[in-house]
Amino acid sequence: MQLLAATRNRHKLGELRAILGSGFEVIGLDAVPSAPDVVEDEPTFAGNAAKKAVWAARIAPLGVFTLADDSGLEVDALGGAPGVMSARYAQESGGPRPNDQQNNAKLLRALAGVPAEKRTARFQCVIAIAGASPALVAAAKQMGVPCEQRDDRMVASCAGTCEGRLLCEPRGVGGFGYDPLFVAVGCELTFAELGEDVKNTLSHRARAMSRVKALLDAVARGEQERTPSRKI
Ligand code: IMP
Repeated sequence: MQLLAATRNRHKLGELRAILGSGFEVIGLDAVPSAPDVVEDEPTFAGNAAKKAVWAARIAPLGVFTLADDSGLEVDALGGAPGVMSARYAQESGGPRPNDQQNNAKLLRALAGVPAEKRTARFQCVIAIAGASPALVAAAKQMGVPCEQRDDRMVASCAGTCEGRLLCEPRGVGGFGYDPLFVAVGCELTFAELGEDVKNTLSHRARAMSRVKALLDAVARGEQERTPSRKI
């Protein structure tokens, strides 16, 4: 099965290909250099992921499923911020996109004086899959995955969460984003100290992707049943 993933991020593509396995051919937006970027202006991760997946469906050949993700950090003491603004948290109005250090510094300032037991947070990831096939709707229903119509496509949303807490200073050099501040429940090390292999067994993205794999395997089975291959 062919999939168009609405990302130019090679790291995300690699992760997706590794999790989905050889039965799926995942094509990234690098294959469509002329495609404009989508404005991520929805108030939820699910909304942004669905918007990007449906947008990608416009440039994908009919019958190809499209896939898009959105993720970020929700901090309880900040009422869920930075949330969908995670990548742009420290951005000044009209200013350039901030880097990870600037976002982390702003987060630490916002949490100054908040005691350890109130520094709870979670990474959230939603991966949306858009398609026109009835097999997508059937598989989503079977798995209890939310599925809704957007324009002329059906969009199923697989979510993954990783609960944890935030430190008072960064630790570790691996990963990206808020990794040096985040310690997952049951861990002592930050995501930036754990190393990619361990992070990938418990991260929000890994959890969402394993739901995607189960969903797409069910879709592939459903499509096969609808159009069984004919042999002489
Ligand atoms: P996006 O979904 O790739 O656009 O990510 C949005 C932002 O959320 C990133 O720029 C990071 O700031 C943050 N984020 C998402 N996932 C992670 C993660 O696994 N570690 C650290 N930060 C993350």
